[in-house]
Amino acid sequence: MASRSILALLVLMAAHAAAQQTRPMRPEDTEVWQPVPRVIAPGRTDRDAPSDAIVLFGGANLDEWVSVNDGSPARWSVANGVVTVDKAAGDIRTKRSFRNYQLHLEWRVPEGITGSGQLRGNSGVFLGSGPGSSYELQIMDSYENATFVNGQASSVYKQNPPLVNAMRKPGEWQTYDVIWTAPVFNDDGSVKSPAYVTAFHNGVLVQNHFALTGVTKNTGLPEYTKHGPAPIMLQAHQDPSAPISFRNIWLRELP
Ligand code: MG
Repeated sequence: MASRSILALLVLMAAHAAAQQTRPMRPEDTEVWQPVPRVIAPGRTDRDAPSDAIVLFGGANLDEWVSVNDGSPARWSVANGVVTVDKAAGDIRTKRSFRNYQLHLEWRVPEGITGSGQLRGNSGVFLGSGPGSSYELQIMDSYENATFVNGQASSVYKQNPPLVNAMRKPGEWQTYDVIWTAPVFNDDGSVKSPAYVTAFHNGVLVQNHFALTGVTKNTGLPEYTKHGPAPIMLQAHQDPSAPISFRNIWLRELP
């Protein structure tokens, strides 16, 4: 009895499959209705944090940041909604760690910046930092200021130059919008999938799903070391030029 009902079911399935093959497809055959994407409120403009963002710097304080040197509260100066690098205080990093995310940040090289090459408004946003993790998207003044192209603004430092130079003049605000996909490691520490970065500088695509070959190194070739979620770091580069400023930094965690 059981085998007869299984047979009947198989016949029905075969008939159904045959019907599927002979019947022309309808538009609704390729419609997907579930799961419904979450509703979020976008910002008033594309610069403003949407409702599901973590605001890392909203203009008032550095509560989301600590000093890289000793983990004490970040001591860069905050005034008028802007935070300015304090080179003596050193690099700062987020208290939280992240894996994959969308990041928005704004930065400004001061008007009248001096110096040349890498020694002109150098900073950087490290898309992961800490043990095993160090991936710099370069920040510096690349407005009419030549340097090695895989070290200019919007480069993945020492790995990939930007597709174009979309730099505004010193004194004007610049935006970065970054999509970061963290590397994934096997249990034995080998790389399962590399880190990927897509970045827009002032709304212009400068990094298009670039696969990193490892951590940022000033000397030597990049390589990977297994790590987990990591903080984001802002660099207090020790060049003698005037410090740059940041504002409006927010992030959306991605699956
Ligand atoms: Mg730098």
